[in-house]
Amino acid sequence: MSIIKVEDKLYQNRYIVDENRPHIQIKDADVCATQCKTQPCTFCCPANCYSAEEDGKVNLVTDGCLECGTCRVICQDNGNISWNYPRGGYGISYKFG
Ligand code: SF4
Ligand code: SF4
Repeated sequence: MSIIKVEDKLYQNRYIVDENRPHIQIKDADVCATQCKTQPCTFCCPANCYSAEEDGKVNLVTDGCLECGTCRVICQDNGNISWNYPRGGYGISYKFG
C-alpha cells in the first residue's frame, strides 16, 4: 500500500496570488516577538505560511493558504491577526476535495 504525504496532497491544489494584497496580515510584529512565547502559528498552519525569524518576529507569506482559519483561532488571545478571505478569483482552488 502506498502512503500519500500531506505535501503531495497539497501539491494538487492551485493557488492564485493576489499580488501585494495579502488576505491575512499580522497586525503588530512586536507583539509576536514580545508577547507570544510559543508562537503557535509557526507550527499549526498546515500550509507553513508562518515562519519564525531570528529577531523573534514572525514572517507571514499567504501564498498557498488553505483558508482553514487555524491561525485566526490560535491567535485569539493576542488578537494579532487580521483575517479575511481572498478577493473573488484569488486564493486556493481545491482539485480533490
Ligand atoms: S500566534 Fe499571533 S501573536 Fe503569536 S506569533 Fe503568531 S501571529 Fe504573532
Ligand atoms: S488560514 Fe490556515 S492555511 Fe491559511 S495561513 Fe491561516 S492557518 Fe495557514
